[in-house]
Amino acid sequence: MWVGIDDTDSLHGGCTTYIATEIVKEICNAGYDIIGYPRLVRLNPNIPWKTRGNGAIALQIGVGGGKRELIGEIEEKVYGCAYKKRDARADEIISILDKIMKNAEGGANPAWVVTEKKFSRKLYSKAVKEIVSVKEVKRTLAETRAKWKTYRKEIGLIGASAAIAWKPLNRTYELLTYTHGEKFIEKESVIKMDTLFPSTFNNYDYENDYIALLPHSPSPVFYGIRGGDVGELKKAMEMLETSEVERWIIYETNQATDEHLQRKKIEEVKPYESVIVKGKVEKEPFTIEGGHVIFSISNGAEIDCAAYEPTKGFRNIIKELKKGDEVVVYGGVRAKPFTINIEKIEVKKLVDVYKKVENPICKKCKKHMKSIGKGKGYKCPKCGAKAGENEAKYVKIERKIKPRFYEVPVIARRHLAKPLGDRVIYQL
Ligand code: ATP
Repeated sequence: MWVGIDDTDSLHGGCTTYIATEIVKEICNAGYDIIGYPRLVRLNPNIPWKTRGNGAIALQIGVGGGKRELIGEIEEKVYGCAYKKRDARADEIISILDKIMKNAEGGANPAWVVTEKKFSRKLYSKAVKEIVSVKEVKRTLAETRAKWKTYRKEIGLIGASAAIAWKPLNRTYELLTYTHGEKFIEKESVIKMDTLFPSTFNNYDYENDYIALLPHSPSPVFYGIRGGDVGELKKAMEMLETSEVERWIIYETNQATDEHLQRKKIEEVKPYESVIVKGKVEKEPFTIEGGHVIFSISNGAEIDCAAYEPTKGFRNIIKELKKGDEVVVYGGVRAKPFTINIEKIEVKKLVDVYKKVENPICKKCKKHMKSIGKGKGYKCPKCGAKAGENEAKYVKIERKIKPRFYEVPVIARRHLAKPLGDRVIYQL
């Protein structure tokens, strides 16, 4: 049996993953097991109505068998089982869900879905890349005879169903810890953990001296350790010097898989998608109010791209682009202004850039000529002889960027964005 939940949180606090730990606790107390790992599934990061990271949860529940792995501690130790021997009773699971979800934070639109038949991966694929309607999700729910409940608006059904529909072709893991008390974390221990466990990623931003394990907003989440090797996460947690952790759990996730991205031509790009597009730099980078750096790429059709202020030093790389450079841009599409918010960029080919170092010299008078205006050429101040723009002396400038990939620093990284380099190892 699969359970999906979403939209239990509001901006004032709460978090769907915390509600999930309450559900896991009650389900285990009722004598059932979690099959495999609970799943934290990130969906379209560009939808305007998300609270934070657009995450939803799916759990497989039953009476389990086979190898048991410690997957968390929520008052008691929680184990994930290798396979399902017997299904759970739907009425028992539903009464647990209802009891917990009706108490979820005000302002959110909580929903749960319970199904014996797993949903098609297509639903997940669409929900991570595009906008899905409640109507189309309800069609899936009816076809599979799934049970569901919403507590305010029905929008939460989308995430709850799409999380169930995720089939991990690529996956990473995140160990999330929770506390309602003091939140203290010793920076040096984070750096040590980051160094000793290379299968973990996005722990610490060395460039910006920023601990990326901590959440951005009020929430019972204390910190999260992301990694490709599930076996290292508990050891990594034990290495951190922190105030007391009340509970922890490991999620299997689609984070750092790039599954939100779609290859598109510039003319096909639509708002709220995440795309990979190729083009030549048309408008050279310029900085607007707030410190955001904007440029455009073109292949005939043209689109603006942005390295926003939170991407910090990445903006200095973007500023080095020149008209005609060939690039492939990876990022989410904003509607207004219609812009690609860059997550990473591949510089394919750099144009040669020349700098004028000397005006042409008049052959007759041996004097430096004067410019008659931008692009209009030169004139001798003495005899009036003229020379073309290309007769001045130019030197080739060494470009500061190279043909390679560049990405935003850890501080600005999105959950779904796969970091460059060999840090993310998928476990299949
Ligand atoms: P947190 O990360 O703290 O859990 P959140 O960012 O996940 O918060 P939610 O409160 O879950 O925010 O809000 C996201 C809402 O958007 C949910 O109601 C979810 O069903 C819906 N949603 C998710 N993906 C899509 C999509 N592709 N199309 C339409 N709606 C979606």
